[in-house]
Amino acid sequence: MNVERGLLIVLSGPSGVGKGTVRKALFSEENNNLYYSISATTRKPREGEVDGIDYLFKEREDFENMIENNKLLEWAEYVGNYYGTPVDYVEKCLSEGKDVFLEIEVQGALQVKKAFSEGLFIFLAPPSLSELKSRIVNRGTETEDLINNRMRVAKEEIELMDAYDYVVENDKVENACSRIRSIITAEHCRRDRI
Ligand code: 5GP
Repeated sequence: MNVERGLLIVLSGPSGVGKGTVRKALFSEENNNLYYSISATTRKPREGEVDGIDYLFKEREDFENMIENNKLLEWAEYVGNYYGTPVDYVEKCLSEGKDVFLEIEVQGALQVKKAFSEGLFIFLAPPSLSELKSRIVNRGTETEDLINNRMRVAKEEIELMDAYDYVVENDKVENACSRIRSIITAEHCRRDRI
């Protein structure tokens, strides 16, 4: 029997916009039918983060080996650390007809778009830049230099949102989740024709 390929859903947007919170809220819903692709990174774990759940934490050398051996669907260097999507998990899910969900920054999302134009690309936007800055500051995990760096990158990222299929404002997590769920449902109705 031929299994219909799953949908590749890419949620992207500037750091601090709330991608992680929105993703966790989506995954906490029952029967969400989504499979999360755990990223590899060379960033050190933050307090409470668990290897194999939040990220696959790697040394730089191991990460560079993954790049060389084509083990990553996409990767980016972001504020001094590598981040990337292991390709095998994504391919396995899609070939089994499962919807796989990536939560990644903008450069990586644009690489995925080149390789998988049939993916569903959603940009999560902040209500405003000042709101974005206060979210990063309130997170309390970053030094002032890092915050300024993240804001600089965020401004560049926001300029790229036209490359996405949908822009979802994250005014409130529940609103953003409900918009994303509707988009996924609509996309299935559009694609899964008899
Ligand atoms: P953080 O250090 O705050 O966990 O993540 C920094 C940025 O990297 C966030 O925008 C996050 O979405 C992004 N990111 C996480 N995993 C990946 C990945 O596999 N690839 C890319 N390109 N970005 C990622």
